[in-house]
Amino acid sequence: MDARITVLPGDGVGPEVTAEAVACLKAVAERFGHHFEFQKALVGGAAVEATGDPLPAATLDLCRTSDAVLLGAVGGPAWDRHPRDQRPESGLLRLRQALGLYANLRPVAVHPALEDASPLKPEVVRGTDLMFVRELSGGLYFGEPRSYSDDAAVNTLPYTRREIERVAKVAFELALGRRKNLVSVDKANVLETSRLWRKVVDDLAPAYATVTVQHHYVDSFAMALITRPRDFDVVLTENLFGDILSDEAAVLAGSLGLLPSASLGGSVGLFEPIHGSAPDIAGQDRANPIGTILSAAMLLRHGLNLEVEALAIEAAVDRVLKAGHGTGDLKGARHPHGTRSLGALIREAIRPPRAKAPRLADSAYAWCGSPEGHRSKL
Ligand code: NAD
Repeated sequence: MDARITVLPGDGVGPEVTAEAVACLKAVAERFGHHFEFQKALVGGAAVEATGDPLPAATLDLCRTSDAVLLGAVGGPAWDRHPRDQRPESGLLRLRQALGLYANLRPVAVHPALEDASPLKPEVVRGTDLMFVRELSGGLYFGEPRSYSDDAAVNTLPYTRREIERVAKVAFELALGRRKNLVSVDKANVLETSRLWRKVVDDLAPAYATVTVQHHYVDSFAMALITRPRDFDVVLTENLFGDILSDEAAVLAGSLGLLPSASLGGSVGLFEPIHGSAPDIAGQDRANPIGTILSAAMLLRHGLNLEVEALAIEAAVDRVLKAGHGTGDLKGARHPHGTRSLGALIREAIRPPRAKAPRLADSAYAWCGSPEGHRSKL
């Protein structure tokens, strides 16, 4: 396959982790006979410095005309005092909106080798395998009116039936390919938008009769998530709740640096780790590249429909972790590594399947459960 992939390294550790993910994609191309063309562009603080705009038009054009976008992270203390439209994070929000990305998939699985890496007890986290589906282009982050003065500030939380329905369908489809269990998280006892959210999910449920649907209030779910994470499969929620809950869920996996994401819904998907630019460790070869490498696997699966290749990356990560390798954020890793040497081990471990395609069950990081991928369903 020929594919054009736009790479947006961004700020802080972004360039370090995307370099490792790109190297893994190159290894996939070489070993599976594909041709991937990579084009780098500016986003975030790096783009502010070069052009004054966190999302230059040239970057957006490149993203729109490519087959998939891989992003590192944006932001950092240097831009914290900039006006909102010149902050790195606003570039990312604009990018997600401009590409029409409304469904953010954030898988969280606990690798057997990392059961001790979480501050929670191994018997609590063991076997956790969650798929968060976070609404990405509506809600409080985009709602109008919004305003700020030193005496009063306003944000607005709007949702329409259409916005809820399209992301809920993604969650139902994913649940069908997994353990057929969907939890929808809201605050319907207080918020009108949540009441609509709950109604729309209930209205859709009969079309997915084999999927069990439960509703949870966000406050009690925040507790359930870390006391009995194994009870949940697909978790559907709105933008702000999803942002917070999926970071909370990172505690289960052992490190924020492990977790990937895919943002889907438009014609081009955006794939990025869930962590930020980690300015405290930037430029020190300390960042865990696994979240970005697993995002590259999601890019292959959801962006290019290359399921076997995605599984090959996930299996490589699996093998490297099983052998006890890890960066400093992974408590208990027997063989400590920097970003570059861990990335190199993973890409060396990527191999095409020998006799038959690897099955989903072969890797603890085989996230999605649907061999044909989900791009076609969105
Ligand atoms: P962060 O995710 O950057 O860092 C939180 C903690 O996790 C830090 O201690 C960091 O060292 C650690 N960490 C993060 N990624 C890691 C990795 N790959 N390996 C090892 N450790 C890792 O969150 P923050 O400190 O709240 O934010 C820093 C900047 O990133 C801010 O400017 C914020 O706005 C931005 N941010 C960007 C994104 C994004 O680009 N999608 C997401 C979140 C935060």
